[in-house]
Amino acid sequence: MDTSASSALRHDWKTDEILALHELPLLELVGMANAAHRAHHDPNRLQKASLLSIKTGGCPENCAYCPQSAHHRDVELTRERLMDPAKVIDMAATARSAGAERFCMGAAWRQVRDGRDFDAVVEMVAGVRALGMEACVTLGMLKPHQAERLAEVGLTAYNHNLDTSPEFYGKIITTRTYQDRLDTLATVRSYGIELCCGGIIGMGESVRDRASMLQTLATMVPHPESVPINALVPVAGTPLAGRAPIDPLELVRMVATARLVMPASIVRLSAGRSSLNREAQILCLIAGANSIFYGDTLLTTPNAGIGEDAELIAAISTPFRAGDLSSKENPSHQTRAEA
Ligand code: SF4
Repeated sequence: MDTSASSALRHDWKTDEILALHELPLLELVGMANAAHRAHHDPNRLQKASLLSIKTGGCPENCAYCPQSAHHRDVELTRERLMDPAKVIDMAATARSAGAERFCMGAAWRQVRDGRDFDAVVEMVAGVRALGMEACVTLGMLKPHQAERLAEVGLTAYNHNLDTSPEFYGKIITTRTYQDRLDTLATVRSYGIELCCGGIIGMGESVRDRASMLQTLATMVPHPESVPINALVPVAGTPLAGRAPIDPLELVRMVATARLVMPASIVRLSAGRSSLNREAQILCLIAGANSIFYGDTLLTTPNAGIGEDAELIAAISTPFRAGDLSSKENPSHQTRAEA
């Protein structure tokens, strides 16, 4: 295996090359991705991010997967106004005590309005940074003066996902264009804010679409610092409610391919993790994922619980002792077997 070739930073990826990596035999793909991961990261380090919905529902965009879109009227969701900054900062402090290093705040907006709303978000970011945590926000489209102000108060990263390939995008969202997304990403980058940008698999896209999305990300200079890889969580009342869940190994392939084409980025195992068992999650970590969202919900969809995450982290970080795998001595194993 040529590990040097698989760990070099490149920005000239072609979709066909990425597709060829994605289609490798699984063990070869995961092995290469793990080597690339080890060349750029501490393999024992797992970033824990916490995600809070600071303004929920009523979004004018029509993203087909999203329960927060006002277009999907059959979704059962309680709309909530923008939260009070003091409450958000309190919750960040709680997340920090639970081990989170990054606090991500999501608002269901097409774009953030100047004035009271934006001022409140700026206050939240400043408060989270004052706790010594990394701060990330997702607020929809952003104007240059807003990016500048967020940079001034120390925003670490801006989350703005591409969701899917340019080719498939129109099947998922019609209220904005791919170019709108790219423009906001360029604006954010121009103020020195890191990018958190990835996508979702399992929405009916082809494997080439997955490779094409990765090609868009991997040809950015520099690569996005964080790349969340999500599996669709179908929500009743959304247009994608009836989609069958993906095979967990598709997520492993996507994570491994993302790791190979953006070897220095943080690859975050995001939505859809709750449907993976412990071993499938660990396989994703071996394939190069090195960040997880830590908490019970991801904006509005269920996530793995904190207790399960603590078990996962213990399973990968504690030295092995003889007897660890017997159900008698490992209560977590016993609980799973009984469930
Ligand atoms: S994904 Fe974001 S932009 Fe799209 S409908 Fe949901 S909240 Fe709005």
